[in-house]
Parts: sequence; C-alpha cells; structure tokens
Amino acid sequence: MSTILNYINGEWLEGSTGKFVPVMNPANGKVLAHVTQSTEKDVQLAVQAAKEAQKLWRLVPAPERADILYKVAYLLKERKEDIAQILTSEMGKVIDEGRGEVQEAIDMAYYMAGEGRRLFGDTIPSELRNKFAMSVRVPVGVVGIITPWNFPIAIASWKSLPALVAGNAVVWKPATETPMTAQEFVKIYEEAGLPKGLINLVNGSGSKVGNAMVEHPDIDIISFTGSNEVGKAINGRAGELLKRTSLEMGGKNAITVLEDADLDLAVEGILWGAFGTAGQRCTATSRVIVHQDVKKALEDKLISGIHELKMGDGLDETVKVGPVINREALERIDEYVKIGKEAGAILLAGGKIITENGLESGNYYAPTIFTNVTPDMRIAKEEIFGPVVSIISVENLDEAVKVNNSVEFGLSSAIYTADVNKAFKAMRDLDTGIVYINAGTTGAEIHLPFGGTKGTGNGHRDSGVAALDVYTEWKSIYVDYSGKLQRAQIDNN
Ligand code: NAP
Ligand code: MG
Repeated sequence: MSTILNYINGEWLEGSTGKFVPVMNPANGKVLAHVTQSTEKDVQLAVQAAKEAQKLWRLVPAPERADILYKVAYLLKERKEDIAQILTSEMGKVIDEGRGEVQEAIDMAYYMAGEGRRLFGDTIPSELRNKFAMSVRVPVGVVGIITPWNFPIAIASWKSLPALVAGNAVVWKPATETPMTAQEFVKIYEEAGLPKGLINLVNGSGSKVGNAMVEHPDIDIISFTGSNEVGKAINGRAGELLKRTSLEMGGKNAITVLEDADLDLAVEGILWGAFGTAGQRCTATSRVIVHQDVKKALEDKLISGIHELKMGDGLDETVKVGPVINREALERIDEYVKIGKEAGAILLAGGKIITENGLESGNYYAPTIFTNVTPDMRIAKEEIFGPVVSIISVENLDEAVKVNNSVEFGLSSAIYTADVNKAFKAMRDLDTGIVYINAGTTGAEIHLPFGGTKGTGNGHRDSGVAALDVYTEWKSIYVDYSGKLQRAQIDNN
C-alpha cells in the first residue's frame, strides 16, 4: 500500500512525528494509503527552503516562470483521468465531477501561465514635469496555503498557480482526508521542472501543521479555504501578527424560483446544485426560495427528479450522488435533519443514512428535501455541507432577495426568471460574490473572481485576475528626470 510523504526542498521526506494516518475511501470504508504526519519542525524546514528559493525565483522573468506553468498544464492534461480516479477514490465525488475538477486546475494553469506575459501594472502621469510614475506588482514572499478536502486540486490550483507566477514560493498543507491528490499535483510541479523549494507539501493536522504555518514569522500570507470556525481563528491570530490572510469560507447558497421561471430548468439546476458532490461544495444549493404560486408544482417535479439520482461509488459512471466525506459528516447531516423536523419543517424526500443496498460500508446520506421551511430555522441559516435542501416560500421578488440576504454568508446565489427587469434587480440586490441568472449556484469559471461577501470571506478573491491581488503587493515608483528637487503638492501649485 502506498505511503504519502512530504515534499520539502525538492525531496520526498517522512514527517518528523514518524507516524502515518490512513487515507480512507468514503465510498466503501477501505484504506487507500497512509499519509505521513508532520510537526512545526517540518514546517520550519519547508519555510526555510521556500524563503531561500524565493530569493532567486523573484528575479526570474515572469514569462520564464510561466513556461513551467504551461508544462504543469500539459502534464495535468495528460494525467487528467488518473488524477480524477484518485480524487474520486479519496474524496467521493462522482468521476465526472472529479474530471471536471482536474479540468479546472488545467484551465487555471493555462490562464495563470498567460499572466506571465501580463502581470499588468499601470503607468500614470505624474503631476510634475519631467517625472515618470508607475505601479508594479511585486511578490509577497512565502505563501502559506491551507486547503479543504472538497476540492483537493482545484482550490490548490487557484492558490498555488497565481502565487508562483507572481514570483512567490509556496508551503502547502492539504486537508488530512485528501493527501493523494495533493501528492499528484506536487509530482507534476516537480516534473514540470519547478526549482526545488518553490513548492513544499507538508502533511499533517490543522492544529499542528496549519497552526505552525500561521505562527511562522517567515510566512508572509496565509491563503485559506475551509470552515468559518477555522478561518476566524486563523484571522484572529494573523491579525495579532500582522500577517496577511485571504479567506474563503462557508456558504448558505440559495436558488430563487420566480412565478415566471422555466420550472424544468430550475429543477435541473436545483438537483445538480443541491446533490452534486453530495452537497459538499461551498457553492452547493442549500436553500430554494420559491414564489408561492409555483411552490407545489416545483416540489412535485423535485420529488420525481430526486428518485432518479442513483447513489453509490463515484467511480461507477452511472452514479449521480456519491458518499459524504466521513462518518462525522454523516452524523452531523443527520443531526441537522432532526433539527429541521423538530422545528416543524416537512420532509419531502430522504432524511436518512443509507444502510442497505450494499452501501452500508460507505458514508451515504439520502438526498433530502425539506419544505415549509422558514428563514429563522437553523436548517435555513447554518451550513449543513451535505445533500440537504430547504424550500422556503415567498410572495414576491423583494421578499426573495430579503430571504436570500438574511444569512451570515454571501458566496453564491441564483435566480430563475423570464423577466429581464426582475433579473437585473436581482443582479443588483443579491448580496453574494457570485450571482447566476437561469443557472444554479455552482459552476464558476476560473477566469472570473471567486469568493463571497459577508461571513464567507475577508474581501479577497480566488481565481481570475483578482487572485493576483492576493499574491502581490503594489509598488509605486516615481522617476524624476528633471535634475532638480521637485516637491509634489507644493511646486506645482
Ligand atoms: P476545515 O475543517 O476548516 O479545514 C480546512 C483546512 O484547514 C484543512 O486543511 C484543515 O486541516 C485546516 N485546519 C484545521 N484546523 C486548523 C487550524 N487550527 N489552523 C490552521 N489550519 C487548520 O474545513 P473542511 O471541513 O475541510 O472544508 C469544509 C468547509 O470549507 C466548508 O465550510 C466549506 O464551505 C468551505 N469551503 C469554502 C470554499 C470557498 O471558496 N468559499 C470552497 C470550498 C470549501 P485538517 O484537514 O487536518 O483538519
Ligand atoms: Mg475539518
């Protein structure tokens, strides 16, 4: 059975605890591999290597840095199927989604490689004669990346590729549940010829390795995606240390269905958004806000659609809903279903852990729909992170927007309507970082900014050009060629 090691300064090394933990397949409870466990000692080695390597990397012309990213893209493309298989085995999402996720990393690699010939700054007229002014992007230094298990390669690509093309070095702690995909990605960086020390992989728990990264004085920024609880803790400590952070956290995303919507289209969007990746996307649809006039019709269509979703091992091409990540997740989801029932919500479908049809050795939760949910219920406010969706009825668009915006998160929202005026009002008023019109809450493309408002983030964005703002600092440069002292704000007035 394979063992997963750390990758530090270009070498594959065992973590200093000497211990390994099993990597489980959530579809069947089988052990897939064992992953090394690290401590702050390993973080120290990784940061030291990154710091040294970055000193040279920042001087490499960005188009030359980008050549390596193009190779990363080619290699990812070549190995797309293998990586997707590994990803699905350890994470559980169905293989088509696994392939889609690797494609996201491929797209990101090409896109950020292109940035090697851009990384635009500005030239700006000076207010003084014979003086030139410009702003340029400079790397921040050593970037600490902490990622969740639900998108084990896409999120790591959103963060590491812009960081590297901009001239930074990376120390990456992947989620404990998904180290195999992380290893594949790092192997590709290695094969693409990325100089040693520029990407370092340190496996281990969040409390040990993640924490040591936050504490380390030579990590200049922490780029984190994960839960609000952990994100808040990181931000609190980073604040004291004056360390930069970029945080992408939870969601409680809603699809609004108005009375003039194409209901069949909306149903497809809801089923895909709520039950794809077994509801474990940060952009998963966990609320449906429906106009009262079409509530019953929508419910009927959803119930018939839900029965067509085959559950099982995501490696089976015919399966539509895979397992959730682990037993704790299963129990947490089941607890939320109890909370929903106790609050008076009506269960229309699902609502149970699957213990039959040969699925009992995996972590399967039946796709679940609640209706007659009110915005104040916990199931309508808290992130469940499983295949559970809550239907809330409203009287009009204004009320729908109010309900959509009533949660503490602001990642993604969607609205189905045939009325262009309502669509534009929604685009203006839905308070989320991502808005879809006549499409569900998932499906972000890598060349647009990704992230959320309010409790979802801290104002930064992954992917798109916006990602460069996370991994670079602006340097403003003034060149005075007048040969005399010129005083801004004074000599020209
Ligand atoms: P998590 O428990 O917060 O873990 C995320 C990462 O942080 C893991 O690598 C984890 O390590 C690490 N970590 C845990 N405790 C830490 C600490 N004290 N200091 C530093 N790092 C620590 O989140 P998750 O359960 O893996 O992922 C699910 C969450 O991610 C959901 O809330 C979801 O909405 C969010 N998410 C958000 C986005 C977005 O872009 N907005 C995208 C995807 C997911 P271990 O694995 O060792 O615990
Ligand atoms: Mg966790």
